[in-house]
Amino acid sequence: MINLPKDDYSCGWYQALPPAAPVKRLKGVQKADYAVLGAGFAGLAAARRLAEHHPQARILLVDAQRAAEGASGRNSGFVIDLPHKFALEHPDPAHKQKLLGLNRSAIAQLDGLVQRHGIDCQWSAVGKYQGAVGERGEAFLDHFEHLMKDLGEPYRKVEHGELSAVLGTSYYRRAIFTPGGYLMQPAALVRGMAENLPDNVELLEQSPIRSLQQEGGNWRLLGDEGEIQAPTLLLGTSIFTREFGYLKNRLLPVMTFASWTRPLTDAELARYGGQLNWGLTPADHAGTTLRMTADRRILIRNSYKHVPRYGGSINDGMRQRIQADHRQAFLARYPDLAEVPFTHTWGGVYAISRNFTNFFGQLEDGVYASACDNGVGAAWGTISGSLLADLAVGAESAQLRDIQQVTGMPSLNPPEPFLGLGVRSRIALAKWHSRSEL
Ligand SMILES: Cc1cc2nc3c(=O)[nH]c(=O)nc-3n(C[C@H](O)[C@H](O)[C@H](O)COP(=O)(O)OP(=O)(O)OC[C@H]3O[C@@H](n4cnc5c(N)ncnc54)[C@H](O)[C@@H]3O)c2cc1C
Repeated sequence: MINLPKDDYSCGWYQALPPAAPVKRLKGVQKADYAVLGAGFAGLAAARRLAEHHPQARILLVDAQRAAEGASGRNSGFVIDLPHKFALEHPDPAHKQKLLGLNRSAIAQLDGLVQRHGIDCQWSAVGKYQGAVGERGEAFLDHFEHLMKDLGEPYRKVEHGELSAVLGTSYYRRAIFTPGGYLMQPAALVRGMAENLPDNVELLEQSPIRSLQQEGGNWRLLGDEGEIQAPTLLLGTSIFTREFGYLKNRLLPVMTFASWTRPLTDAELARYGGQLNWGLTPADHAGTTLRMTADRRILIRNSYKHVPRYGGSINDGMRQRIQADHRQAFLARYPDLAEVPFTHTWGGVYAISRNFTNFFGQLEDGVYASACDNGVGAAWGTISGSLLADLAVGAESAQLRDIQQVTGMPSLNPPEPFLGLGVRSRIALAKWHSRSEL
């Protein structure tokens, strides 16, 4: 039995889009040269690169939901060039330079697509702030500064006064600004990429694949009303990869949540007093992510849950408590905007591993996967998806060698109930330690 994604229908980014074009579902027996499963950043990039290698091939890209309904369309919209927090601690500078190079290549790829297809997704090269609320955050910030120096990466210290003028709140003591990241509207970007796929890629949505079978040199992807038969299968299914029996007991399903306001009115904007279109991630990883969108909405993201049944693990009571936490974080920052309501609260599932290692490569004959991006998948999904296509067609490149050197095998999880207990207590402990930064 395959557990399918269970994303809620309350994602603000998705709800802000115009209605989607009519859906095309998997029906009957479809033979293809390549099948790509999952239309998030990884699957979209993989399908596109396969088409560039083989413009005559038939490539089927299939997703259980509409494109942009999954994690790729419901994140906080940071496309980050710097290695992830844990990767930044890696002792080998060359490892970090490779990650930087790969992430930057992903950003260049996304930038090219946005420009070429005129994708309207608030795509902006505005960098990002890493903010400290109190002493604990400042200690993390000092460490981050040290890491940036070691890496030789540009950064700027932003003191309280300047920061307050940008953010419209004096809640943060100070921040470090790094210029390389982009911001975007994730659902608009993902839908835009899905609508502008190469001619030989067919996108089949609302077509859950319920099992994989190998038969006579082909992989059969069995859906509800049809099946795909292809010799080569690329999995861009993130945490759901484990549902097909791969990387079992190595990936951890984690859900994080966001809420946002309606667009501020002119009067509210004047009271807010800050700038539009910036993003701040917490210096202390377990703190709160904050964004002011280009269209005047304030977004708050925090809270983590271990979700063995994906969205099905979250009940209404939990949702209400999470929204209350978001409200508290909002009011602490913007007490003068207390009358501005949240219009949407949503969650999304992604994969982490205990050793924070990304999996990239071949799983068995004809099956390739990029899974486990540890929660920073906009850039990573894009570059790992493209390079997975290179690997599948046998193309060689320096980047392919780089990604193979910086990825590995996610470590094994302990069995239940120890796993659930361990993850839940770790999340609770991190929340408690970071309470002053929330
Ligand atoms: C609230 C939130 C905020 C985040 N903020 C950021 C951020 O600011 N920046 C950042 O880089 N990352 C962020 N992330 C993480 C990021 O969204 C993910 O890492 C990224 O989307 C993973 O991309 P992906 O393509 O690998 O997988 P996904 O986007 O998860 O795509 C997998 C796809 O597989 C499909 N699928 C699964 N099973 C099946 C099946 N059986 N049949 C058919 N289809 C199937 C799913 O429907 C899904 O569309 C955030 C995540 C959340 C939830």
